[in-house]
Amino acid sequence: MIRRLASHRRIVVKIGSATLVDGARGIVRQPWFGGLVDDLASLQAAGADVIVVSSGAIALGRHAIGLARGPLPLEQSQAAAAVGQIALAHAWSAAFQARGIVAGQVLLTLQDTEERRRYLNARNTLDTLLARKCIPVINENDTVATSEIRYGDNDRLAARVASLSGADALVLLSDIDGLYTAPPAKDPTARHIPVVEKITAEIEAMAGAAGSELARGGMVTKIEAAKIAVASGAAMAIALGGRENPLKAIDEGAPVTWFLPAGDPVTARRAWIAGQLEPHGALHVDAGAARALRSGKSLLPAGVRRVEGPFARGDVVIVRAPDGAEIGRGLVAWDSSDAERFKGLKSAEIAALAGHSGRAEIIHRDDMAFVG
Ligand code: GLU
Repeated sequence: MIRRLASHRRIVVKIGSATLVDGARGIVRQPWFGGLVDDLASLQAAGADVIVVSSGAIALGRHAIGLARGPLPLEQSQAAAAVGQIALAHAWSAAFQARGIVAGQVLLTLQDTEERRRYLNARNTLDTLLARKCIPVINENDTVATSEIRYGDNDRLAARVASLSGADALVLLSDIDGLYTAPPAKDPTARHIPVVEKITAEIEAMAGAAGSELARGGMVTKIEAAKIAVASGAAMAIALGGRENPLKAIDEGAPVTWFLPAGDPVTARRAWIAGQLEPHGALHVDAGAARALRSGKSLLPAGVRRVEGPFARGDVVIVRAPDGAEIGRGLVAWDSSDAERFKGLKSAEIAALAGHSGRAEIIHRDDMAFVG
């Protein structure tokens, strides 16, 4: 059941501040960092899409502006993040560039992953970067997120990123090599758990007791992240980040805890779409489009006959065959006004009318759940 990292299609790797930053000096740990970037480059060279979620902005920035150690009030951590994010992005960009890879910075807020319309935008940006073999380096947009609307920890942010990007693996590089039955430092009988097939109450209780107290994202938030990841079809690993070549070490048998997913990401997304109780409208398609959809193709505007709105990009709509029967439900990539305006038209005709080519599919095949 446990696969090599490189055999995954799309991998999100999260690195925590305590692992990345030498707190006393306020700099990225070298040469350890070079080894990590080598590992990420090897995963990409082996064919996987790689996404990095990197903490460390606050840890890097606070030193530069002379803020003492210990918890910071929100406005000070935001100021520290404003300074540190520049250094953080530069460190990643330079290290990838030295290995012939282009990095892209993506700063997300909670709404970007929770609101469907923005969620689709974030997903398209990531897909576009990955299609061009860039490595997105993601952090929370700490400088503008206020306390009520922030993740606060990058474990959950990374799980949301895994979910929205349809990743099949998430690795949390942390200061502990996995989940234990009890706190290993205090209890000599504590056992390491290599595989969690299901997150039971018993597993959650272990997380409450074990793990690191230092990092903001302790074991409890890691379990929260695991719930999000496995529900969206990604396997999640908690692994020790501070060792040399921490990702290579996982494939070489270093202890980690793997949380196994319920299914694959596309199946998980389709189940979520099928379960939406209140679709926002309908698209009536012609016979050719109905056939194409059923054979696993995306829905293009040319195949749409009638639009029942209103709906917004990111809503779930019903797709109906010419006889009115429901074919399935899909996450729609267009607003109903655009769907109305461009239905029945070919991409080139739409480009001529709209002055730009817009999005090709009105429902992407991965966003379509069929009835029956
Ligand atoms: N976004 C924060 C930073 O970059 C880190 C959050 C976390 O530690 O999980 O400093």
